[in-house]
Amino acid sequence: MKKVVIIGAGPAGLTAGYELLKDKTEEYQVVILEESQDIGGISKTVKYNGNRMDIGGHRFFSKDQEVMDFWEELMPIQGVNSFDDEKLGREKPLKEGGPNPEKEDNVMLLRNRVSRIYYLKKFFDYPISLKLQTFTNMGFVRTIKAGFSYLKSIFVKKKEDSLENFYINRFGKVLYSMFFEKYTEKLWGRHPKEISADWGAQRVKGLSIIAVIKDAFSKIFKFKKKKVETSLIEQFWYPKYGPGQLWETLAEKIENNGGKILKGYSVKQIRIDNNKVKSVICELKGIEVILEADIFISTMPLKDLVCGITGNTTVPDSIKEIASGLPYIDFQTVGVLVKKIKLENQTKVKTLGNIVPDCWIYVQEPEVKMLRLQIFNNWSPYLVKDAENTVWIGLEYTCQENDEYWNMSDKDFSEFAINELASMNIIDKEDVLDSHREKIKKAYPAYFDTYEHIDKLIEYLNNFDNLYCIGRNGQHRYNNMDHSMATAFEAVKNIKEGITTKDNIWNVNTEQEYHEQKSK
Ligand SMILES: Cc1cc2nc3c(=O)[nH]c(=O)nc-3n(C[C@H](O)[C@H](O)[C@H](O)COP(=O)(O)OP(=O)(O)OC[C@H]3O[C@@H](n4cnc5c(N)ncnc54)[C@H](O)[C@@H]3O)c2cc1C
Repeated sequence: MKKVVIIGAGPAGLTAGYELLKDKTEEYQVVILEESQDIGGISKTVKYNGNRMDIGGHRFFSKDQEVMDFWEELMPIQGVNSFDDEKLGREKPLKEGGPNPEKEDNVMLLRNRVSRIYYLKKFFDYPISLKLQTFTNMGFVRTIKAGFSYLKSIFVKKKEDSLENFYINRFGKVLYSMFFEKYTEKLWGRHPKEISADWGAQRVKGLSIIAVIKDAFSKIFKFKKKKVETSLIEQFWYPKYGPGQLWETLAEKIENNGGKILKGYSVKQIRIDNNKVKSVICELKGIEVILEADIFISTMPLKDLVCGITGNTTVPDSIKEIASGLPYIDFQTVGVLVKKIKLENQTKVKTLGNIVPDCWIYVQEPEVKMLRLQIFNNWSPYLVKDAENTVWIGLEYTCQENDEYWNMSDKDFSEFAINELASMNIIDKEDVLDSHREKIKKAYPAYFDTYEHIDKLIEYLNNFDNLYCIGRNGQHRYNNMDHSMATAFEAVKNIKEGITTKDNIWNVNTEQEYHEQKSK
């Protein structure tokens, strides 16, 4: 029996554990080490006073059929309407024979994706669409300027050596300044000039004015679309009680198959002797625990992994420098329960309490630090204790660990977030019933500083045959849940089939066509 240690009980680590055990329970002994007390990593669901909070709002959508099948097998698609759809007469492509969310918990809901940009105290479609409302919101002068700058961007292409030029080439300078420049700076704490174009290539690939025009025309003339770009997909799956529910279900299955999930175990050192990982040294309530194994799968941040290497090996200085210079963006979110929000629902989409129908809203107002606003009622009414009479919203912020915002007390930071919301006239402070703050370290692996040398780090790590780096921070790649899972599928395939190259694992989410784009 081969001993496998997996670091991290997020989507990648859990998927790897499950895949190893599902048909070879006798062949592998799997131990998952998780430093927190939670299951699901960034994709967990936080339970607070009867309401549930998603860290960031996790759509379950993938171009990868293996991932979609995996999710559906764990959590069958609803066969009967959820209570909000039923009450409002909203139709969904229900699965015949699927569970009834009013009676069963293990059910995947079909949700409508509505998300818009809030800017100049008005709503703009996300991504920007070419309709009269957009131009009315922008005003005549801005519209003309944007049109000319877009035309210029068609004929004068900039060298794509930064995220700024990536956006300008696709949208023109004026639209870039309005919708991308400040927002990107708020998100990453860096100007788009300083960020690699790789980020844009991965996240907004295929999205441009041309894609927007095609979408507008196909809507007007009802053309049958062959492909839908990532940001234009209009429906997604969502577990009844948020993403964490699915990962907790998977954790249970791993344990039923004989795997162990040890919470509170923080891996601090990785001992390497003769080019093989021998053991990991963890901290458990201040006590050092050593765990040996034959195979190690890591989803911990690459920076911590490499900086934690010990044993009779010396990490070259150049490699240490790259690893320790890898940048991360940390994240905070405040759940705020209110009696009502003041944004008017001027859309045709019906909602409980007639709140705006958005699952999330990109806040582009330059005077606030807030990045996005989640409306959990619209993700799943089951996340909210009283979805008909209260609105449960999530306010999202990026920051740096230990900066002034990170170090604020829960009370002060929640107050700061609530004040921002009130300053935009979205709520009245008197309507706030409750609030809860969550801090997430290293939520975003960033693509600047020593990231440009990451290939050297990968090459170095590939020297250790029995070490597999998977997931989002595990690969320092902007991987979504599906990509994180796909890296686990590839790693387990290699382990089971004795494949020694790691290229297939590192190549997930680097191919030309972005994973989330799916032929429809
Ligand atoms: C705001 C936001 C919104 C998102 N929205 C979506 C979305 O809509 N759809 C989507 O598919 N994806 C989305 N994602 C991405 C998704 O959250 C990640 O892709 C996914 O959680 C990555 O899984 P992972 O297992 O690689 O890492 P993680 O989720 O980070 O899990 C890693 C685990 O390892 C543990 N760990 C770390 N270091 C150690 C250590 N030294 N010892 C022991 N344990 C350790 C951590 O505690 C954690 O539990 C979003 C992310 C963010 C931040």
